[in-house]
Amino acid sequence: MVYFIGAGPGDIELITVKGMKLLQKADVVIYTGSLVSGNILDYCKEGVTIYNSASMSLPEVIDAIQEGIDQGKMVVRLHTGDPSIYGAIREQMDELDKRGIDFEIIPGVSSFVAAASRVKAEFTLPGVSQTIIITRKEGRTGTSEGGKISELAKHRASMAIFLSVQSISQVVEELLEGYNENTPVAVVYKATWPEEKIIRGTLKDIAEKVGDEKINRHAQILVGDFMGSQYELSKLYDSSFSHMYRSGKE
Ligand code: SAH
Repeated sequence: MVYFIGAGPGDIELITVKGMKLLQKADVVIYTGSLVSGNILDYCKEGVTIYNSASMSLPEVIDAIQEGIDQGKMVVRLHTGDPSIYGAIREQMDELDKRGIDFEIIPGVSSFVAAASRVKAEFTLPGVSQTIIITRKEGRTGTSEGGKISELAKHRASMAIFLSVQSISQVVEELLEGYNENTPVAVVYKATWPEEKIIRGTLKDIAEKVGDEKINRHAQILVGDFMGSQYELSKLYDSSFSHMYRSGKE
């Protein structure tokens, strides 16, 4: 059996209990060395075979999995955050399907929610935004039609932008097509790692601040009025509002 496991954003205690238990049993672990903290491998048993996928191509990763399976071993493919978001797991799963190799996916804490926790924010605020857009600047690996940040900005939703901090100036330019320049932005570098940095600003000044800190990788760009001071109180906890579990008071 092969397990695709979300390692979480960095702090090794943010893997799920299920993910950790499987990692403890694994005979072969292939992990994304550039993004997953090496300390997480401390969970592994002695004698485990470890591959760092940072320097491997897709066929090499698949070969390593196949070899483990042929030897009756338990194989873990460890991905940063949650595997379903910019994890490139689809191509691995399709290849395993072709070869008749069984696999399961264990979700993880994605870096966009980890970043929100570090800035102590709620993405969905009544009267502000009930929608989160997860996206990235179109880059070397391409993006689909209609996915341009300038188009998405027009929704003025809460936004989490992955893989894009190296182009922060262009990202800001595109965002300004929808949001006003006073919209709060937080850039969270290596959320939950010891070297984490949080830079707060607005669309007006964030590019300069990020430049000053020389952050050009491994960061979330969070954008939206959900980080501002205005919002409406939640109806769910409003004392005059009735719902399935509570009667409202007059
Ligand atoms: N599957 C991962 C994303 C992989 S793509 C997830 O769910 O988080 C890699 C990008 O994710 C990085 O360029 C960065 O934008 C973001 N990222 C991953 N870990 C991060 C962290 N700890 N803090 C901030 N951003 C992170």
